[in-house]
Amino acid sequence: MAIALADALIARNPSNGAELGRVNPTASESVGAIVERAREAQRIWSTTAWSERRKILKQWARAFVGQADTWADAICQEIGKPRGEAMGEVVMSLGAIRWTILHGARALADEKLRAGRQAFLLIPGARVRYRPLGVIGMIGTWNYPLFLNAPAIAQAVAAGNGVVWKPSEMAPLVGLKLQESLDEAGFPAGLVAMVQGRAEVGRALVGARIDKGMFTGGSENGHRVLTTLAANGVPALAELSGFDPAIVLPDAPRASTIRALTWGAFVGCGQTCVAVKRIYIVGDAKPWLKELAESARSLRVGDPAAPNVDMGPLISEEARDRFDRFVRATVDHGAEIVTGGEPRPGPGWFYAPTVLSASSAEAESALAGVFGPVVLVRQVHNEEEAVAAANSSRFGLAASVWGRDLDAARAVARRLDVGTVTVNDAVTPIGHASAPFGGTKASGFGRIHGIHGIREFVQTQVEQTRHAGGFRPQLFPYSQRIPTLLKAYLQLFHR
Ligand code: NAD
Repeated sequence: MAIALADALIARNPSNGAELGRVNPTASESVGAIVERAREAQRIWSTTAWSERRKILKQWARAFVGQADTWADAICQEIGKPRGEAMGEVVMSLGAIRWTILHGARALADEKLRAGRQAFLLIPGARVRYRPLGVIGMIGTWNYPLFLNAPAIAQAVAAGNGVVWKPSEMAPLVGLKLQESLDEAGFPAGLVAMVQGRAEVGRALVGARIDKGMFTGGSENGHRVLTTLAANGVPALAELSGFDPAIVLPDAPRASTIRALTWGAFVGCGQTCVAVKRIYIVGDAKPWLKELAESARSLRVGDPAAPNVDMGPLISEEARDRFDRFVRATVDHGAEIVTGGEPRPGPGWFYAPTVLSASSAEAESALAGVFGPVVLVRQVHNEEEAVAAANSSRFGLAASVWGRDLDAARAVARRLDVGTVTVNDAVTPIGHASAPFGGTKASGFGRIHGIHGIREFVQTQVEQTRHAGGFRPQLFPYSQRIPTLLKAYLQLFHR
């Protein structure tokens, strides 16, 4: 079918607005057939031995290593990340894929359940089996276009599934490159298929006959997708927005904490789902604000193609304007701009690293859902107030606590209602290949990475086997002795 030019996805370099390429979107009407084709391929794939799956995954991973530089270049150009961050994404992606290659067999192996006390009830032991679900429909985002797609695809196919996935319309070229790498690795034709397009193609995928939906993106769209999946009775894995708090305790060493918080807030131009967005200072916030503002001002903002750049642009003009509206609304609700608070002149969609201060929760709620280079600082009287403020958000992705006394910091950390909590660090746990990652509350549910991640892509089946014709007490007609025997069992084990 001919695609009207206006429909093409146009990839632009966000540092200068230059066109990088065009990709024709998939026709929404054809998405169902692509899912069916993946299902056909999956029927055979689900019967393959682990050694066969691992062989192809290994070939795929090896190709990544060989092309690490071209991957980093592609991410740099399309997303506008500094090269170190882009290479970091390649390394983290490979680490997560390797986890599956090394540990997938163990994670998917049958587990034996011994009969235990049930032996007295003549209920035998059993076996827990992890079976593939079928076809996973994955809808991806752009901010980590490799890391948030490739490891999940690896886990889904390792578990015996087919995958139909949609990269973000903001990163169609990295999407194409990823699909090419999958095709070259030797997965059976159609098993892992990509569809390209905007929300309507995502809607078509969610409405197709998939067996599980995985959505990574904003909470509003995520909830729309979850509503459709729930109506169709399809299970879901949702990785949604965050609004991550950092609690700074009075004994936190200022210089090192400021440096770490600056990175935590502005990595990926603040367009990182687990970037620090709110800082609660227990005690006097003034010196912290001053030093944080100096630190933010010292960042070298520019085109990541140039050397010595710490922070690139926002992903698009629209994203930058939306971000600016969030900052203005927060100021209208009583926040003060300590530094930044305005776009940088073009070309490109740059914005000054922004530090806001607020004395009320009202200003803070105006910022909830923002995605860009901003952090809001609020002074609180004590830990109680800090924990209450941190937990008051509807989001619950990640949080951090900062202080010298690690036991005290960990005691605060344990009270935070989030999927990942760090002490004297932020963002980095997402790079740990075995650490399950995901959110609570409006930040989603389900986990990616490691054993928890791979088990998102299986259904759990119990198999119990008895000898044919063997004795069993649970048969008609009931013996008069059964209640007495069950009562004796109760006395013995549940007194
Ligand atoms: P988005 O919600 O605009 O889009 C995400 C994807 O969903 C895109 O592929 C888009 O085409 C598709 N989509 C949009 N509406 C849809 C619909 N109704 N039905 C089906 N598909 C639809 O989000 P975005 O701008 O790509 O990403 C930014 C957001 O993602 C931020 O809020 C960020 O916090 C969040 N995020 C979360 C994680 C995480 O792991 N929790 C990771 C990265 C980003």
